[in-house]
Amino acid sequence: MSSVAETRAFEAEVSQVLHLVTHSLYSHKEIFLRELISNASDACDKLRFAALSDASLTADDAELRIEITVDRDARTLTIRDNGIGMGRDEVVENIGTIARSGTRKFLESLSGDARKDTQLIGQFGVGFYSAFIVADKVTLVTRKAGAPAGEGVRWESAGSGQYTLETVEAPQRGTTVTLHLKADEGEFLDNWKLRELIKRYSDHVAFPIRLPVQKDGKPTDEFETVNHAAALWTRPKSELKDEDYQAFYKSLSHDFNDALAWTHNRVEGSQSYTLLLYVPEKPPFDAVFSGRDERHGLKLYIRRVFIMDASEQLLPNYLRFVRGVVDSDDLPLNVSREILQDNRLVAQIRSACVKRTLDLLEKLAKDAPEKFQQFTNAFGNVLKEGIAEDGANRERIAKLLRFASTHGEGADKNVSLDDYIGRMQAGQDAIWYITADSHAAAKGSPQIEALRAKGIEVLLLSDRIDEWMIGYLGEYAGKKLRNAAKGDLDLGQADEEARKKVEAAAQPLLKKLADLLGARVGEVRVSHRLVDSPSCLVLGEHDMALHMQRLLREAGHDMPGGEPILEINPAHPLVRQLEAESDETRAADLGQLLFEEAQLAAGDQLDDPAAFIARVNRLLHA
Ligand code: ADP
Repeated sequence: MSSVAETRAFEAEVSQVLHLVTHSLYSHKEIFLRELISNASDACDKLRFAALSDASLTADDAELRIEITVDRDARTLTIRDNGIGMGRDEVVENIGTIARSGTRKFLESLSGDARKDTQLIGQFGVGFYSAFIVADKVTLVTRKAGAPAGEGVRWESAGSGQYTLETVEAPQRGTTVTLHLKADEGEFLDNWKLRELIKRYSDHVAFPIRLPVQKDGKPTDEFETVNHAAALWTRPKSELKDEDYQAFYKSLSHDFNDALAWTHNRVEGSQSYTLLLYVPEKPPFDAVFSGRDERHGLKLYIRRVFIMDASEQLLPNYLRFVRGVVDSDDLPLNVSREILQDNRLVAQIRSACVKRTLDLLEKLAKDAPEKFQQFTNAFGNVLKEGIAEDGANRERIAKLLRFASTHGEGADKNVSLDDYIGRMQAGQDAIWYITADSHAAAKGSPQIEALRAKGIEVLLLSDRIDEWMIGYLGEYAGKKLRNAAKGDLDLGQADEEARKKVEAAAQPLLKKLADLLGARVGEVRVSHRLVDSPSCLVLGEHDMALHMQRLLREAGHDMPGGEPILEINPAHPLVRQLEAESDETRAADLGQLLFEEAQLAAGDQLDDPAAFIARVNRLLHA
């Protein structure tokens, strides 16, 4: 019984992805096999899970497996699984569309650079379409487990805009994908080549991957298993090589890059489980990662049966970069998402995931500083969220953060709070930092001049999350974190007497400036933090940095906030000039300029740029 074939067009986005896949993935063409085997393995996982509640699904053919065959004359390569299979609607949904929410963003983000695109594709898991790298036609025949033989579905496409769909007779459940290989892809008809690729990329797949036994260079009807066919995490660590872990990581995460590090543990005790957690090298490109969407990446197995992706239940948000597997011996197989939310065993596993991840990062920081630097560059800002999110581990997380600093090199974020404390000067009781909206602005902040002059280190924070994160951190190892641009700063450079004298002498000038600037400043005072600059703005201890206030205001938030304090440096020639100026107009110009310069240095915007320019021009021209 076979219906008339129906021809349908791919969604526009699928066509774009297909085009991209075939053109840019060519340098990694053999990955198509890993992707198709990975789909077959997922299908077997899903059937095993479904069979927990309906044993009849696998009753006729219990051994889940993947078989790979070639037909040299027809030049076809076939990957067949006896997994869950698909119904007609599912074929249309899964193979004819790209259901993933981030796809549009992904397409928008594509550059012409093929290598970069290649990596993005990997992270989007366009798995099935990778078949078109080596095939000019792909035929998929599938039957859903439990459906009658008459409900098979045949899908076929040459990968150019459309596909055909047909209901066919399918004697067995599961999915068969047949690749009609392009003229120059004959190597994938070779038994040894296939065997080698399976060993390299798919050895860890938990189901047997079988190839026909060869006799006199020809395939027989007998099959042999060529992969290890045991879930990787159940194997003893001593037996596993780095390559094994990396290959497993890649098929788990759809990442083209290696994992940076991993931790593999078997826990036996009041409950038993296995954890295999990976930290990637690079952030994946997807909307999920930015935290706006449902998270994925950590798979929950129960006694070797895949249950669901449980990233949200097993990892806090600030560790959302972790990929891996949790395999529990004790959770009930019929566990639901709701049960996971509120289960004592799950809570224990979750805190073990956090602990093991932090252990892993600490070890990396200690033993592999270069790798840890890569981690910081990729995920340092995500980890910072943990300072607010995970109060119980705040100190451990803070220890793992790295910052740029006046004592560090360039803009590199490689100074830890412990490094800082180790370099603190005698009598120094605070960890000084400054925030700005760029590294250059932080580094050039006038507010840190006196600290610099005394050789006191200042952390230079320029990520948007920093200001917020520091608010939660407050102190580290008993040392307060202090913002160099807030509150009073007195390093005790001058004795009390001398200070009082300077302040008294500056009174008329301070008054003049206060009158001139009116409500734009909260106060005008003599600065103890300036050396080279004539003026700077300072905030109250609890005010938000000016660049943050501006960001929030731009985002439509009402930001009352106290007016900034203008501090001036009475020793600066420009300030002296202002003091001595007898021409009222010029004095007013200079006074405004002191304030405007301070605004610019603080990353604030000028109230009236045109007036500022006119003022500078008047002063320059005089
Ligand atoms: P991904 O595997 O990343 O979801 P694919 O494009 O490889 O993306 O596959 C899309 C979907 O098609 C899969 O999520 C799955 O639902 C379905 N699918 C693909 N291959 C198979 C298969 N061998 N058996 C059952 N379903 C499959």
